[in-house]
Amino acid sequence: MSALGIIGDDLKTELPSGETVRFTHLDYAASAPCVEAAATAVAELLPRYGSVHRGTGVRSQTSTVAYEVARDVVAEFAGARPGDQVIFTRNTTDALNLLARALPAGTTTIVFDGEHHANLLPWPNPLRLPTPASPAEARRLLEDALQAPGEKVLTVTGASNVTGELWPVRELADLAHAHGVRVIVDAAQLAPHQPVSMSDLGADYLAFSGHKLYAPFGAGVLVGRADWLDAAEPYLAGGGASALVGDRPGELTWSQGPARHEGGTPNLLGAVSLAAVCAALLTADRDALHGHEQELLTRLRDGLRDIPEAREVSVFGPDHPRVGIVSLDLPGRDPAEVARRLAREHGIGVRAGQFCAHPLVRSLLKTDKSGSCHTAVTGLLRASFGLGSTTGDVDRFVAGLAAVLRS
Ligand code: PLP
Repeated sequence: MSALGIIGDDLKTELPSGETVRFTHLDYAASAPCVEAAATAVAELLPRYGSVHRGTGVRSQTSTVAYEVARDVVAEFAGARPGDQVIFTRNTTDALNLLARALPAGTTTIVFDGEHHANLLPWPNPLRLPTPASPAEARRLLEDALQAPGEKVLTVTGASNVTGELWPVRELADLAHAHGVRVIVDAAQLAPHQPVSMSDLGADYLAFSGHKLYAPFGAGVLVGRADWLDAAEPYLAGGGASALVGDRPGELTWSQGPARHEGGTPNLLGAVSLAAVCAALLTADRDALHGHEQELLTRLRDGLRDIPEAREVSVFGPDHPRVGIVSLDLPGRDPAEVARRLAREHGIGVRAGQFCAHPLVRSLLKTDKSGSCHTAVTGLLRASFGLGSTTGDVDRFVAGLAAVLRS
């Protein structure tokens, strides 16, 4: 199997008819299945691991080297600049919360309402902007917000977890930088689909999760400028974060560098498996992967056009570039029930609800012609795909959805 081949891609499920079919996983945006590179990295380390940064024995030494090599690989994957820090976290949510605690006191965080809650809620002093209807409106809203007095930082998603749309990160970053404002990019949905280069994006900070990037659960990263991070109180006080602890309370020197915010024993297997996927993606033919994904997207959206009961939702309009995530409004239908029936009757896994993006989903549901929310609707139905997805998966979803909506 290739480094980016999906483990367990032949998982089967039984339908009520008694027929056994291959399970069609179309919920990559929630958690992507594990790829061979990550599984191999874990399997190789399992018989040899020990404590990281804490011992002289061969297990500890091996683990320390593996952990620090993982950090270097992630830095390369993120296109980090010299001097940037790479801090291993639990996931994107953790990375953004860490950064929120490291902002200089009094900093205002400019954030659009269209964000995932992980990038909406952690900020101590948010200046929330409405979800824009176009990239031009996003620029206008940001331009106004940048006039506010005081220190500011902008945080923006790379790709929406609801609509899959690529946000105009570079344009917004250029605008922010022109006002001396740093930029945070939530790359949880971008990194699995597109190369992420902090300099191309104009990102001062980048956060993403291993479990959405084909590695097992439990590891994420925050990459970015060291000064705020080195000046902040440690995210987790404890061993590793502390360089010297005296006899009296307050008599202590915190560590510098990533260790300052990585208190406690780190998640070595998470970091190493995440880095293994980064390494595999760095050498993969990303153009070919992108081409395949766009082919699946086109096929899906063409297929959906034949199902008038399912309205695709978007913020920036149907032609705006996006990754392999599509959400549907099903007027008068309960998306959770539709998702349950797709799983039970057709062996297809999708997600229904508001995807931890309540303000965005509410605004999308209000964009129907009457201008009001459907009273019976509890959210959207989302199909999302990735490395293991095929045209067959897309066709099964379209046919299954049509069958469920018409019965
Ligand atoms: N940001 C976006 C855009 C997401 O889609 C998600 C998860 O769905 C997150 C942040 C949070 O990621 P995690 O749950 O791995 O912390």
